[in-house]
Amino acid sequence: MAIENGRWTGPILDNHFHLDRGHRFLSAAEDFKRVGGTDLVLVHKPDFMDLPLSVDEWRIAYDGTVSMAEEVKSNLGLSVRVILGPHPASWAHQRQALGSEVAGELYKDAVELAIEYCAEGKSCAVGEVGRPHWKVEEEVWQEANELLSWTMKRASQEDLTLQLHVEGEGASTYSDLALIAERSGLSCKRLVRHHAPPQVDEQTTSGLIPSVVVGKGSVEEVMNTVSRCKDGFLMETDYMDDPRRPGAVLGPKTVPRRTQALVAAGLDEESLWRTHQDLPESLYGEVD
Ligand SMILES: [Zn+2]
Repeated sequence: MAIENGRWTGPILDNHFHLDRGHRFLSAAEDFKRVGGTDLVLVHKPDFMDLPLSVDEWRIAYDGTVSMAEEVKSNLGLSVRVILGPHPASWAHQRQALGSEVAGELYKDAVELAIEYCAEGKSCAVGEVGRPHWKVEEEVWQEANELLSWTMKRASQEDLTLQLHVEGEGASTYSDLALIAERSGLSCKRLVRHHAPPQVDEQTTSGLIPSVVVGKGSVEEVMNTVSRCKDGFLMETDYMDDPRRPGAVLGPKTVPRRTQALVAAGLDEESLWRTHQDLPESLYGEVD
């Protein structure tokens, strides 16, 4: 049994975690481990001061994330999966600086390269990709949606999972994404919505996989909706490892702590295995 004396002793996975060599890096991952964390999904963090301008520069940026993952594995013994891709804000910044055509090409190059890294086993999914979560002009919105639809087509061809960074809090975002996925030929089961609100019922999520950002109050909402969640949910902090944004995101210990809070609130063992092991394996493959 993985619940002993009211505590979960099985794996604990944070599905969206960033690290930065210039900031806390290993010590942040160590915090996660110290409170029971076992598995990190390390998502590429864009450097907005120095965005890649060519495929070669994208490669250097991705290699930086891959090498951090290797160090976390070897130094701390955590399991680490890597997810690489062009953040929607990277594209939006570059669109402003370089124009829509060049930025669009760079975006596609970055996705193709991320797909290569998946084929080589250095990465397990593409993300975070999506569309701006702030208000943009209609023209930008349209282009973002076209790129997203193209990305979903590529994911369906390669049988890959996408981690999506999108706008909004409610069900309408999910249903809109499900529609784009359908048109692109991609199963919603390949779409993980990062930074998801805590409502995990199927009616809200339209069949996408919610990766709940486990802030205050999330445990109650998850418990209120989990009985109507068919395909499972993931938990994340969206930890940024950025001292300039204290409090903007949750700390590295939050997923282990909220996992124990879910146990205390009565979440069953089957759901916990699904969140922390079975669903990640089906989305990303097994870890080596
Ligand atoms: Zn992120």
